[in-house]
Amino acid sequence: MIDRILNPTLLLISFSLIGFHLACKQAQESATLSGNNAELQEQKEVIMSEKDEKTEEQWRHLLTPEQFHVTRRKGTERAFTGEYHDFKGKGVYKCICCGSELFSSETKYDSGTGWPSFWQPISADKISTETDNSFFMTRTEVLCSKCDAHLGHVFEDGPPPTGLRYCINSVALNFSEKRE
Ligand SMILES: [Zn+2]
Repeated sequence: MIDRILNPTLLLISFSLIGFHLACKQAQESATLSGNNAELQEQKEVIMSEKDEKTEEQWRHLLTPEQFHVTRRKGTERAFTGEYHDFKGKGVYKCICCGSELFSSETKYDSGTGWPSFWQPISADKISTETDNSFFMTRTEVLCSKCDAHLGHVFEDGPPPTGLRYCINSVALNFSEKRE
């Protein structure tokens, strides 16, 4: 008699326990899943942060007025006035805004234009280009691919081997001596 009463009760308890156990397992699994999602989100943020994006105000604080005018307002320094147009140091020219390595002294040449000129960037992915129709001309604007700083323009009257002339504002660059 007691068995008959107990057994269904035990069964009920067992079922409840199994139910509870399953619920716990599910909760654990979804916790692991959201853990993975957090990890994915983090990875995404790392990729996003490779691009250096700042507000105008932040750039204004970080740059001198001339640097800001050229790089963030697509300005042009006056020819023969920049720090690097006649500079012959051996090293790397970095973006003044974000520090990305853009041009090597090995590809710098004297174009006679009054602006530092290079026939090639350090690698193609360091820069991006856009069509610039300002001043009644069609030119190809050169930008830093990491922070979108305006650097200058690229023309097709450069020396071999590329035949390109990257005409860059000194003020957009920061020279760094090569460490051997
Ligand atoms: Zn940059």
